Amino acid sequence: MSTNQPNQLHRITTFILTSLLTILSIFSINKAECAEKPSVPNIVLILADDQGYGDLGCYGATAFKTPNLDRLAHEGMRFTSFYTGCPVCSGSRAALLTGRHYQRVGVPPVMFPGNKNGIKTEEVTVAEVLKEKGYTTAIVGKWHLGHLPAFLPTKHGFDSYFGIPYSNDMALDPESAKFAGNCVFRDGLTAETARTEKPKGGKVPLMRGEEVIEYPADQTTLTKRYTEEAVKFIRTHKDKPFFLYLPHTMPHLPMASSPEFKGRTKTLFGDVIEELDWSVGEVLKAVADAGLDERTLVIFTTDNGTRSGSSGPLRAQKASLYEGGYRVPCLMRWPGKIPAKRVCDEIAATIDVLPTLAKLVGGAVPTDRPIDGKDIRPLMFGEANAKTPHEHYILAHGQGAVRSGAWKFYPWPEGGDKKGEAPKGPKVQLYDLTKDLGEKQNVADQHPEVVARLQKAFETFVADIKKKQ
Ligand code: MG
Repeated sequence: MSTNQPNQLHRITTFILTSLLTILSIFSINKAECAEKPSVPNIVLILADDQGYGDLGCYGATAFKTPNLDRLAHEGMRFTSFYTGCPVCSGSRAALLTGRHYQRVGVPPVMFPGNKNGIKTEEVTVAEVLKEKGYTTAIVGKWHLGHLPAFLPTKHGFDSYFGIPYSNDMALDPESAKFAGNCVFRDGLTAETARTEKPKGGKVPLMRGEEVIEYPADQTTLTKRYTEEAVKFIRTHKDKPFFLYLPHTMPHLPMASSPEFKGRTKTLFGDVIEELDWSVGEVLKAVADAGLDERTLVIFTTDNGTRSGSSGPLRAQKASLYEGGYRVPCLMRWPGKIPAKRVCDEIAATIDVLPTLAKLVGGAVPTDRPIDGKDIRPLMFGEANAKTPHEHYILAHGQGAVRSGAWKFYPWPEGGDKKGEAPKGPKVQLYDLTKDLGEKQNVADQHPEVVARLQKAFETFVADIKKKQ
């Protein structure tokens, strides 16, 4: 007995010490992991170009398949009353990136290679807000907020840029193009002949940083190369917070798909959309492979209504102020934060992206200028009874439009948007979208009090836009 006692005491002491060490090591590993894990989410913002409200499976498309986009809806929030800031390209992007209507930002609705202006230097983009909070920022895709050096993404908060500077149907600005030493010239061109050749629509430069690296860009490869670039960026920056803005060039005309997707559906449009959907799938896979699913917010939306596809139940297409022009699909996925399989019918808009993301990461929303967007986290996170922060969502573009609750109001008559056609009916248009989503029945005469209220809201808004930049 006396010989066993020291052994037993030794075993007990060893057990206690080992247990203590194990507890301490678990604690220190957890502490280290906590220290390494950023408390803010990565953000991936995917923007398609001219993909309309009816051009995704989860919004009713049947002529092609979009399983990856549908997965975003299945695993997150699908917005059904989501609006862009402009029914065409540049104005829409200005609003998305600054949280302000484009009229305040210094860009026209559509920028062309002949334009010498662009997004104002003093504008604060969402990339700048996130960069302030330590994010690495990248844009992969179409910029379209000014192609001259002062207006390029690298001057507006993006650490890197790979993509085209304006729409893919436009032409080179030979005066300002800065060809990289190793620029790949195609179609038999050289650095010399590229400058002297008469610029041709559809021949656009592909840029990296502030230099042209390929001219003209091979448009059949763009979706694929953007995707490869995006995946590489996610892999490279997986250990620190990142913001990836992925504004695709497609399906804007002239459409092109890679050979792998050509002929998959009955139309080129369907092929192009299926390739974009594949791209979304690759991005999601890269996020998952990096172990970042629960730490990454993915947003998908489009810049304006469809040109070559379907607006679904909505009236008109791209460029129109009717719903098909600028009500767009929007999906948000963040496992564990955004509830799955949810639909939000409340009014929200691309101008809300900057204030919402700023609040999400503890960033600063500019206070020295009007910010038109609102914080829509309650809608995004599916909080009970969350309501839109927009009593009115108003566009001053063209002749103007107002969405307010069930109503859509236009301060101009039916046919007033068509040249050479005499306007008809009442002087203004009012549609009840809860009963008439396709905007076929003008009920302005039946609701003079609603017309008066929305007309006043519109005039107040336009005066504010003109007064305050
Ligand atoms: Mg567009």
